[in-house]
Amino acid sequence: MPEIQARAAVRVAVDAPQHSGLNGPLDYASEQALAPGSLVRVPLGKRELLGVVWPGAVEPDQALTLRPVTAVFDALAPLHAAWCRLLDFAAGYYQRSVGELASAVLPPQLRELSPDQLAARLRKLERKAAKAVEAAAPVKPALAPEQADAVARIEAGITGAAANRPVLLFGVTGSGKTEVYLRAAEAALAAGRQVLVLVPEINLTPQLEARFTERFAALLPEPLAIVSLHSALTPAQRLQNWLAAHLGRARLVLGTRLAVFASLPQLGLIVVDEEHDPSYKQQDGARYSARDLAVWRAHDLKIPVVLGSATPSLESWQHAESGRYERLTLSARIGGGALPRVRLFDMKALPASAGVTTALTAPLLAELKSRLERGEQSLVFLNRRGYAPVLHCGECQWKSDCPHCSAWRVFHKRDRTLRCHHCGFTERVPRACPNCGNHDIAPIGRGTERLEEQLAEALPGARVLRIDADSTRRKGELEAQLKAVHDGEVDILVGTQMVTKGHDFRRIRFVAAVNPDGALFSSDFRAPERLFALLMQAGGRAGRDAERDAGGESPSEMWVQTWHRDHPLYQALARHDYVRFAADQLAERRSASLPPFSHLALLRAEARTAEAAKAFLDAAAGLLQDGQVLVYPPVPHAVARVADVERMQMLVEAGQRARLQAFLRDWVPTLIELKRQHKAVLRWAVDVDPLAI
Ligand code: ADP
Ligand code: ZN
Ligand code: ZN
Repeated sequence: MPEIQARAAVRVAVDAPQHSGLNGPLDYASEQALAPGSLVRVPLGKRELLGVVWPGAVEPDQALTLRPVTAVFDALAPLHAAWCRLLDFAAGYYQRSVGELASAVLPPQLRELSPDQLAARLRKLERKAAKAVEAAAPVKPALAPEQADAVARIEAGITGAAANRPVLLFGVTGSGKTEVYLRAAEAALAAGRQVLVLVPEINLTPQLEARFTERFAALLPEPLAIVSLHSALTPAQRLQNWLAAHLGRARLVLGTRLAVFASLPQLGLIVVDEEHDPSYKQQDGARYSARDLAVWRAHDLKIPVVLGSATPSLESWQHAESGRYERLTLSARIGGGALPRVRLFDMKALPASAGVTTALTAPLLAELKSRLERGEQSLVFLNRRGYAPVLHCGECQWKSDCPHCSAWRVFHKRDRTLRCHHCGFTERVPRACPNCGNHDIAPIGRGTERLEEQLAEALPGARVLRIDADSTRRKGELEAQLKAVHDGEVDILVGTQMVTKGHDFRRIRFVAAVNPDGALFSSDFRAPERLFALLMQAGGRAGRDAERDAGGESPSEMWVQTWHRDHPLYQALARHDYVRFAADQLAERRSASLPPFSHLALLRAEARTAEAAKAFLDAAAGLLQDGQVLVYPPVPHAVARVADVERMQMLVEAGQRARLQAFLRDWVPTLIELKRQHKAVLRWAVDVDPLAI
């Protein structure tokens, strides 16, 4: 490599994995002075990679020996210092290299373009932005008093009239949270600031985009003034929308968790809708929480962040209790629509003849039938897809296990397959038991597919529709199915948690959760929190329409079929009492020293054998001692083997977040070294603030 006479040396964040030991930004030579945040291409080994010039000084006398920057994207304004701070913080907090994180969150197409190609893009974008669209002034409802209070409080934060504490906007489905987001966004836009709105699901972005566009089309007539950012966009769309945000053209950005890293030089407000949703946590690579980073980003910029939920995460709720967050409550549904009455259906009280062995009990079928006769829509909720979770041979006790995982393969009847939901291994259903040849192999248990079939059999003539990950695999299917529900072409909707999220089903008057008990006895301490949120959300799908209540229709209702009707979770659910539920759960968490009263990280290791994974974790545990940090013995992952890889994990716990962070800072570099010495082939990762343990 030729050495050049360079005037400047620069630090560049490049996509070198943290595990390579190339942790921070690397030093390069540059003929021109480069502002921090500039995008460049640099050599690394034999490759040439995208990089970001990083703030901070380089040893001046080094410049002569450094490899030069290959190309500079000088048509593009540098990334803002605040963006670099966010990445520095996130990389440090989640124990990744800053270059790896930058490359994961920048639009993938940037990596492939040359500076000239990017400039041609940019020109296209300018032409696009020149034509404005006409739109009528929107109709805005008069705010209810609690909404007005919430908006005033957030506005004060935008204009700087008050200091900004994160706002927890607490209100059930239909209480008017989205209207508060819209008004707060309007205030930020009027102040010349950009707005970022995060939603948990890609599927929810079109709906939200429509609502924001309807409201702001007149105020923001320029194309690309409102854009979305999520992983289902084409690479070209994603780059275009990202650039629009970076250039300040996009005033309002709606997106999923990756949008928390959007470059927004004039950001003035962040909204995190359904802030409790687990999908805000990235589950591989840099395992960041977009919700937590949103709070950090807002704090760093001294701007308001609004976290909205009917069932806040217990972390956020505890922050509100302690006063770190400001809780603003919307206590009623807009228009006085009632929440559905919750009926806890005691499975123990049913006679055997009522069909306790099937999810479709006689009383449930009778209720569905009478709703059907009155022309009302119902939702039957079961959080398990497929036909049955396992096939079983009554002769030899064979079960449809996955040869590559410690899990059963799920029976999918429609395409006659046995499919592993962990590794994807799929085979045709055998005609006879593969072990003993018995022809009488039978499904055990039920998933949504079987429920759909049983409902159609039990209620002839009913139009039954199933919505889950299987029924919506192809593009456009979910939209078409939701439309059928909205248009009243469906009598009974069967679905997984997918249907409980956000979708506004105005016609549904009856919701049944047929088999939710499993989560009560999970080893995951967050399972009850998730179940409560899911059931509240499922119930929120019913009876949003006060007019229909007034119109003398049967009351909207939610049934929960349970063997544990006295369980405090269900008792709180029956009264729609999140506050009580949260208090109970937090008391338990406090006495068990669980989050939010302690702070956790997981060290995960994957290898061909459990012994190799365990040996790595055992050695890791011996590398660093800290009297205030507890390192638990390694245990197998809940699904220990996936795709022939054994997964072990080890919990690290500290009373103070800072203590845990300090420990990880010292520990992780020694793990990189340990891995290097380790003979067995092995992958490892640290998960800070893990959601599932
Ligand atoms: P959430 O986001 O809490 O589910 P929304 O903001 O979507 O609640 O409000 C529920 C419904 O009530 C929506 O149709 C919305 O347009 C309407 N709405 C919200 N606020 C008001 C208001 N102040 N006056 C009249 N209708 C309202
Ligand atoms: Zn058999
Ligand atoms: Zn498998």
